Amino acid sequence: MISRIDLRGDTLPEGGALRDLLPRAEFDVEAALETVRPICEDVRHRGSAAVIEWGEKLDGVRIESVRVPAEALTKALQELDPAVRAALEESIRRARLVHREQRRTTHTTQVVPGGTVTEKWVPVERVGLYVPGGRAVYPSSVVMNVVPAQEAGVEGIAVSSPPQKDFGGLPHPTILAACALLGVDEVYAAGGSQAVAMFAYGTEDCPPVNLVTGPGNIYVAAAKRLLKGRIGIDAEAGPTEIAILADATADPVHVAADLISQAEHDPMAAAVLVTDSAELAAATEAELVPQVAATKHIKDRIEPALAGRQSAIVLVSSIEDGLTVVDAYGAEHLEIQTADAAAVAGRVRNAGAIFVGPWSPVSLGDYCAGSNHVLPTGGCACHSSGLSVQSFLRGIHIVDYTRDALAEVTHHVVNLAEAEDLPAHGAALKARFGWKVPQQ
Ligand code: NAD
Repeated sequence: MISRIDLRGDTLPEGGALRDLLPRAEFDVEAALETVRPICEDVRHRGSAAVIEWGEKLDGVRIESVRVPAEALTKALQELDPAVRAALEESIRRARLVHREQRRTTHTTQVVPGGTVTEKWVPVERVGLYVPGGRAVYPSSVVMNVVPAQEAGVEGIAVSSPPQKDFGGLPHPTILAACALLGVDEVYAAGGSQAVAMFAYGTEDCPPVNLVTGPGNIYVAAAKRLLKGRIGIDAEAGPTEIAILADATADPVHVAADLISQAEHDPMAAAVLVTDSAELAAATEAELVPQVAATKHIKDRIEPALAGRQSAIVLVSSIEDGLTVVDAYGAEHLEIQTADAAAVAGRVRNAGAIFVGPWSPVSLGDYCAGSNHVLPTGGCACHSSGLSVQSFLRGIHIVDYTRDALAEVTHHVVNLAEAEDLPAHGAALKARFGWKVPQQ
């Protein structure tokens, strides 16, 4: 059901060579660019009519209007199962606690007497938040996108999610209810690249946004890559990944359950166990069989995800080597299930989010830990972070120098300008001092 990679015995190869040995989904965003380019161009030129037609083609339902009417949001919230409402409210409460702490404050540095640089943090004016709704629907992604945007102080928040055949072409009612709970009333029934293009170019229904965030499939990732520049984007968050670094102290029942929990997202989802214990590897393999058989999405997602080349059990000689492996992999979600898990977790350098010990499974983070679940995948955790308040802020430097403070540094500026053969730069300062460099 899941392949094995045995890295025991030899010294581990370094960097790129080690990465090449590790399992990874083939997620060729470049190839998908050719699919999404005409869709994005069509939306650019024909606006809402194109969004509706691509929705009909790709989501199998023709909608009257891309903008979700306010009554549909109110109705979805009224009809929401009270238990789901309570869970969403708790998820929002916890996420707010964590994200509120991420707010940035204006800070002024006195560089020299009379010379200051102030860094002011300004929220992006208008954002488009993508909430997936193809194979599964993700009201939790509404929470994970909207809460940091709200805590950052973003004024214009628009949400888009694919139209659902079974719900008259509206996004899934739980997604609408989550938007209503969070006070978001600008919601669109658009999925995939047509949604990203709608946000980027704007249509007669949806004014353009400055930034698009949120997870999605390969077409969403490709459209974000294509339109980056016109819009800002967060890190690419593709098919989900779980890596578990575990030793003989880990419980194979927990390990198998956690691998399956993320395989459930997508046939391209990755589930990777890195362990120095052959016994745990064997027990996990054995445990996967009954647990997979008992799940709902066996054939369409879980079996292909576990059997795919992106998933494996990686055997290593020691937890020390395991740390090298998980750092080379840079998992979206990394669980540490070892003795002294907190100390091991403290040494990890590359991961989207780290889950420590037996009582912090990834599923907790997906919904109710307070952490954000929109996280970098495909090794992007080596250079990018998950969604946070910071994703929605811009830092602006405000430079304020007096005459004396400028005079004192002019010779340095002039010398650097000459070294770069840009004498007009130096002249802009000399012009203020009778075309001379002030005496020191
Ligand atoms: P989705 O909403 O991302 O994609 C559905 C849309 O894809 C459809 O509306 C359609 O417009 C478009 N599409 C489908 N087939 C197409 C084709 N052939 N050509 C062009 N466009 C096409 O929903 P999904 O497919 O369920 O994917 C969601 C993904 O998000 C999963 O891979 C899941 O693992 C991932 N996810 C990631 C995170 C994270 O933080 N990394 C969090 C939640 C979900």
